[in-house]
Amino acid sequence: MARIVMKFGGTSVADLDRIKNVARHVKREVDAGHEVAVVVSAMSGKTNELVGWVQNMPKVAGANHSIYDAREYDAIVASGEQVTSGLLAIALQAMGINARSWQGWQIPIRTDSAHGAARILEIEGTEIIRRMGEGQVAVVAGFQGLGPDNRLSTLGRGGSDTSAVAIAAAVKADRCDIYTDVDGVYTTDPRIEPKARRLKKIAFEEMLEMASLGAKVLQVRSVELAMVFKVRTFVRSSFEDPDAPGMGDLLNPPGTLICDEEEIVEQEVVTGIAYAKDEAQISLRRLADRPGVSAAIFGPLAESHINVDMIVQNISEDGSKTDMTFTVPSGDVEKALRVLGENKDKIGYDVVQNESGLVKVSVIGIGMRSHAGVAATAFQALAEKGINIKAITTSEIKISILIDGPYAELAVRTLHSCYGLDKS
Ligand code: ASP
Ligand code: MG
Repeated sequence: MARIVMKFGGTSVADLDRIKNVARHVKREVDAGHEVAVVVSAMSGKTNELVGWVQNMPKVAGANHSIYDAREYDAIVASGEQVTSGLLAIALQAMGINARSWQGWQIPIRTDSAHGAARILEIEGTEIIRRMGEGQVAVVAGFQGLGPDNRLSTLGRGGSDTSAVAIAAAVKADRCDIYTDVDGVYTTDPRIEPKARRLKKIAFEEMLEMASLGAKVLQVRSVELAMVFKVRTFVRSSFEDPDAPGMGDLLNPPGTLICDEEEIVEQEVVTGIAYAKDEAQISLRRLADRPGVSAAIFGPLAESHINVDMIVQNISEDGSKTDMTFTVPSGDVEKALRVLGENKDKIGYDVVQNESGLVKVSVIGIGMRSHAGVAATAFQALAEKGINIKAITTSEIKISILIDGPYAELAVRTLHSCYGLDKS
């Protein structure tokens, strides 16, 4: 017997038939004798609709801010999950399963006060554990929490993944199964490279890099939590027949296991290729090469909430002038240029140049910690295809390369095959 948290995303609960199908997945685990808690998203499209309603409401007359009250935003957008948790509880009851819905505040899932993008601080798991022990299935509304002001909070878009992992940690589950519309995590985006393979396992650190680079299977925050609390997390499909052979396998269900690297015995050097579109490059030319220049540039950008990613600084020949190049999301270029312009005297540069529509392609793998030549292989392969590299950054487990947008797909395929990822 095991304790399992099962999370179902928006497409998995998109209508009543799919909710009934989800109930069959839950029944399979209950019938096998496991203790089960379920976390659900809102029906797909529902949260967008709710957010749209909020945005179309009139603003408070005379208010000096143009945004709506974030506490009321939360009260509204959290309702999608309330509906699906109740519907799934009913579907389970109709199958003879003892089930009960739970809203975030009823558990409670305590968060900080950042309404709209709250962080979980604490989960009171005892009552759910007690009821699971009595054979009751808890159907928890994802995405929701309770703020210190005793009001509903939400965890940011995609937050029900984080709800699931946090609950799995709180009830000390053996496994957290994230059911979604894909059947696992792939070596790269299969829409770009049809030879992409589904990974059996991926380490937390690698998944964190994949997720933050736009492999949108899981909310990044949920992967961080899974890593900190070592929650073994399976990404698997809710669209497979719930009773197909192997679906109830306790140790190796179909899908991708995100786990501690120690659990991965046959570690490849490279695990996957990820990419992030819509990057822009900004270069400051002929800066004074003196202490404090970087702080003068990146301090004001950070204060303006501009997310700077790759940073490349040249060493000046005679120690007087240097160039600084960095990347930001394309949508932030104008804001960044404005901030740099306002601080021109303090920073002391000659000209600023920028280019949008770039793509960052990344090679990810824990195995590269102990292997030399991984970067050289990438550079050689890209050179053979005539792809020009504009900037490079590396970490222990990642090499990121900035290139022109139109080369993105070719670069992804080239890197995928140069490490043999297309061969099983
Ligand atoms: N329903 C919320 C959203 O669409 C949370 C989630 O689905 O994870 O962002
Ligand atoms: Mg999601």
